[in-house]
Amino acid sequence: MPGKLPYTKYDLDSYFEKYKDVNKEVIVKEDILRLGVSFTDRALEESSNYATKSYYLFSYDQMDIDEMKKKEFINAPECFKFKGGPYGLRVSNNKTCLEKPERTPYKVDFHDGQLRLFWENNYLADVELRPKPPYYAYKFPDGTPYSDVAASVFWGYLSFCCILRSCQYWGHKEECLFCDINTNARKQSKTGRPFMVHKSIEEVVTVMDTIFNKEREPVNHTIFLTGGAIVKDLKQKSNVEFYAQYVRAIREKIGGRWTIHLQTTALEKDDCKILKDAGVDCHHANIEVWDKELFKKYCPGKEAKVGRDEWVKRVCDSVDVFGEGRVVPTFVSGCELARPYGFTRWEDAAASMKEAWEYLMSHGVTPRSSSWIIEPNSFLGKYDQPVIPLEYYIEVDIAWYETWKKYNLPPIYNFSPMGPGRSLSINSGHLDMGS
Ligand code: SF4
Repeated sequence: MPGKLPYTKYDLDSYFEKYKDVNKEVIVKEDILRLGVSFTDRALEESSNYATKSYYLFSYDQMDIDEMKKKEFINAPECFKFKGGPYGLRVSNNKTCLEKPERTPYKVDFHDGQLRLFWENNYLADVELRPKPPYYAYKFPDGTPYSDVAASVFWGYLSFCCILRSCQYWGHKEECLFCDINTNARKQSKTGRPFMVHKSIEEVVTVMDTIFNKEREPVNHTIFLTGGAIVKDLKQKSNVEFYAQYVRAIREKIGGRWTIHLQTTALEKDDCKILKDAGVDCHHANIEVWDKELFKKYCPGKEAKVGRDEWVKRVCDSVDVFGEGRVVPTFVSGCELARPYGFTRWEDAAASMKEAWEYLMSHGVTPRSSSWIIEPNSFLGKYDQPVIPLEYYIEVDIAWYETWKKYNLPPIYNFSPMGPGRSLSINSGHLDMGS
């Protein structure tokens, strides 16, 4: 079966040794993200009592839902913190990217009365799970849980709402090659779990009102809104107006204290101003992959509708509207090494990412990295994919941090605390860098 190929046995200590100046938490986090994690039956039983995976955007799993015989998709946690253990790791938050036990060295088990993380059956760290936030107890009259409208991610720092779990870049001629949003929506709906594809303004406002006005936890700070690309009008609204109407309604209900991040396609300045006036603080127009030729191949819809150079220009220009630390395009780091089109040497891929950090940060942009999860239902998941070398991720994170310091940029605004023991980001290690 195509997909991620088996990993080659390796020595985790050798990476700690080779990258002495890099926090061990960064190395472990990136390693878990690239290889995935499995949960024993007992660990799943325990984790089902906590905030479980909500599939708030993509699947982020390395195994197909059809292979989850233990209903991992219902019982596994959204994220988990690891800490302590023989290396005295500082606390680090991690996304649960499920993988079969025989295909990853990382396993969470219930041991000596608590959840623990193991690497090749060696105890590595203690595991802490996020309790269900109070608003997860609420449901709409039709039985839809509020958690299906907005997931509590980054340990609750972000209330993540995918307004539209479907993308109008449709099919292999338009969808980004690493993305499984459309297939994930179809497959999750089939499991019988509540899975709204399109959320109404009233539903979103009701849930945000509950989170920020009625049941607020101290950790809550930011609303993260996203959705698939809109290229044709949706419900008589253009791309910009479709998302702006949600932002205005949320602001009306919860006021101006809480931050709103919004992800859309790359927009011209006038459109950015509409969003800012509506109440958006930070804008994310994801570039995904930096190399020009790979962008064209990997993001055919973006290339056809906007074009790679224009996309990058719009991102840089939008700093004039939102300000530094508030323009945050994501990169799916590692996918530029994917077969059949990608780089063959990880060093070339890392050099491409370093070029991206340099160019964008020199323009006041604070890009971010989201380590590639090889999702079986994406286009790239249909090919045999060698595991991305850990060196690649570590060097991309080092470069991000060094470039960010070089340009003396602010942190990404109200996205996550930064630094070891503080970061709540689950997507990659670069925000766990530093001291
Ligand atoms: S723009 Fe690309 S990555 Fe984003 S939802 Fe559409 S296909 Fe997926």
